[in-house]
Amino acid sequence: MRRFVLVTGANRGIGRATTEELARRGARVLMVCRNRERGEEALETIAREADARRLELLRCDLSVMSEVHDLVSRVEAGYPRLDVLVNNAGVYSDERRTTPDGLELQFAVNHMAPFLLTNLLRTTLESSAPSRVVIVSSDAHRRARLDFDDLQLETGYTGWKAYCRSKLANVLFTRELARRWEGTGVTANCLHPGTVSTRLLEEAFGLARFARPLLKSPEEGARTPVYLAVSPEVEGVTGKYFRDCEPVEPSPAARDSGAARRLWEVSARLAGLTGRDR
Ligand code: NAP
Repeated sequence: MRRFVLVTGANRGIGRATTEELARRGARVLMVCRNRERGEEALETIAREADARRLELLRCDLSVMSEVHDLVSRVEAGYPRLDVLVNNAGVYSDERRTTPDGLELQFAVNHMAPFLLTNLLRTTLESSAPSRVVIVSSDAHRRARLDFDDLQLETGYTGWKAYCRSKLANVLFTRELARRWEGTGVTANCLHPGTVSTRLLEEAFGLARFARPLLKSPEEGARTPVYLAVSPEVEGVTGKYFRDCEPVEPSPAARDSGAARRLWEVSARLAGLTGRDR
């Protein structure tokens, strides 16, 4: 069993179900949550099934880059290793909102936070190799194309457009990460969890109560992230997009290596990353 796993957005939805299953299987899970009370409530509930000593709460608002830096300092200071990083946290907003760093919110939380967190944890992940990065993307990426002249939708913003773009950015980031980190012993894969009954889905589509039985439960949605986090079947597999625990082709836009490189460069600049982290 991979021992140390960090899961972002661990207090509800797919992240919480992923945390629960990994802890049940014996992993020590660092639960990254935006809100302390919600995080503690989730930890206490999960601890009824799994040993509470396997769970730890780390508070971080991932929309704020200084908080991501602070989170990484706490991880580096407190934990000897990190076997798996699960970038799961995500947000949907119909209204265009900006973060304290001046970034569009969905771009910041869904793309920039995984980008920054993963890059800042590079040394820890490398020293724990073989280790894994798992990124929760979505089939919504198939609806998107990136516009490098207006990456953060300053004009023509809709919540759905921004969401789909951020999920395309997840797939492009995974691809470029796998390429840049080849030979380090750290793999990177992303996934579509299915259409899962969660708060995010309700915020995006306002689903009526009667539609819920047609959706996957968070536990079902957690199957592919858990598989990518711990299954021996994907040891050494990198740069792939998964659905239902199987690799599938992402959209043509998500296979554009030039766009993946360019997005990495732009993101590194926005995150203020220099040197090896770039
Ligand atoms: P969810 O139940 O709404 O959970 C989202 C999680 O992200 C929550 O824990 C939330 O914390 C956290 N989060 C949001 N903004 C944050 C921030 N600024 N800092 C730290 N944490 C933050 O939604 P979900 O459906 O499980 O979403 C998980 C992932 O699955 C997302 O990446 C989403 O894009 C992806 N996905 C979902 C579906 C689906 O059908 N549900 C389909 C495809 C992909 P709070 O509780 O504090 O808000």
